Amino acid sequence: MAEPDIPWMPKVRETKTLRIRNEAEQGLWTGVVAQCVTIFNDKIMKAVKYEIVTEGKANVVVKVAGGSKDDPKLGATATHGVARRWKGNRGIEEAEIYLPAQPWQNHTNVLYMIMMHEMAHAAGLEEHASDGIFMTLPNIDQNGKISATKNGKSMPPYFFTNKTVMRMRTIWS
Ligand SMILES: [Zn+2]
Repeated sequence: MAEPDIPWMPKVRETKTLRIRNEAEQGLWTGVVAQCVTIFNDKIMKAVKYEIVTEGKANVVVKVAGGSKDDPKLGATATHGVARRWKGNRGIEEAEIYLPAQPWQNHTNVLYMIMMHEMAHAAGLEEHASDGIFMTLPNIDQNGKISATKNGKSMPPYFFTNKTVMRMRTIWS
């Protein structure tokens, strides 16, 4: 049985905005979060919007895994990050995205894919899509082109499937 998507608590949901703080501005991840916020906001078709904050309360914090002993263990083969979400009675209250310090592939395209995929989880999506940014296991060719199947539609340009956008709209409306 598929896990249901999880809405954020009403106070956040009403704003259709997730305030995100970037604590992953290091090494190969430098500049990735800012770029991904722009691309994600464009591709998710206004279902929800991320907004980078440098002070005040953030809903989502992004870190590179390994800085603290409580961080999730992401091996050197990681093509995924981890999104941890804290749920209260009325929905998600907080989230953290952990990025792998040593992803298996470090082409910029792959880093963007990892980050935006976790942004979709942090926004509440659970089960993976069959294609696009939210797919499970991407094929990555030597030029950093990413696709769901060998001859499938390749990214970039990045996309979410219509179904993924609709699911996002559902939990944010
Ligand atoms: Zn995932």
